Amino acid sequence: MSKFVGAHVSASGGVQNAPLNAKKIGAKAFALFTKNQRQWKAKPLDSKAIDEFHKNLEIAGIDTKHILPHDSYLINLGHPDKEKRQKSLDAFIDEVNRCSLLGLDKLNFHPGSHLRAISEEECLDLIAESINKTLDETKGVTLVIENTAGQGSNLGYRFEHLAYLIDKCEDKSRIGVCLDTAHLFGSGYDLRDESSYQKTMKEFDEIVGFRYLRGMHINDSKAKLGSRKDRHHSLGKGEIGLKAFELIMNDDRIDDIPLILETIDETIWEEEIKLLYSFTKESIC
Ligand SMILES: [Zn+2]
Ligand SMILES: [Zn+2]
Repeated sequence: MSKFVGAHVSASGGVQNAPLNAKKIGAKAFALFTKNQRQWKAKPLDSKAIDEFHKNLEIAGIDTKHILPHDSYLINLGHPDKEKRQKSLDAFIDEVNRCSLLGLDKLNFHPGSHLRAISEEECLDLIAESINKTLDETKGVTLVIENTAGQGSNLGYRFEHLAYLIDKCEDKSRIGVCLDTAHLFGSGYDLRDESSYQKTMKEFDEIVGFRYLRGMHINDSKAKLGSRKDRHHSLGKGEIGLKAFELIMNDDRIDDIPLILETIDETIWEEEIKLLYSFTKESIC
């Protein structure tokens, strides 16, 4: 098996519950928040929760390399205000350390936003500085930058933004990217048929490079192409349509990385996972 599909599952009641929630929907990969994503502070992970997390991963048959933790929505590594940026950086470093404690090798984050107070380039420089500081103070975890739809003043809506951050990163072995299909579409990258899909992926490969691809978020989009809006939808029910997902499932440049549903109806995640696997010659084992 070369495709590892799952969803962003709940970790409510503790991180140890996430692998079991993944198992329930037949997932071979998953994403989670390692703390409440809407709060700055969290109590440290205790060894009992960590042990149970690993026990439950074994029960679920999921490898840590197929887990893509997501950071808190509050964090803005490019915040124009120095104090607020520092607060974000401290919280981000704490999240990286939580991943390390859990034995996880990736942390997915959104680049940041300039809040219309500074230029895009100044903001990207601040984000790069935050990335380098984080890499200096932590170890073992790859920082995985997610592309965005470019809503509001969020950066990361062009492949050039991702490439700029990678270029400024002092340890290229610990930087990667995650492509969110709904965000790609919202930011103007088409995926709806074979030729638009290949064009977008060729552009990605030339500007960023598949060697940096550490995960994908598999979402349809309620928002139109290039609308700069971030509105996820269930697979096949939005503007993207199913063909893009069939192409992804048969693209061997996308093997062996977590493919995560963040679609809006979690009651059909199990069906969506089955649907994705039905597009390939592989079966769910
Ligand atoms: Zn995200
Ligand atoms: Zn996403």
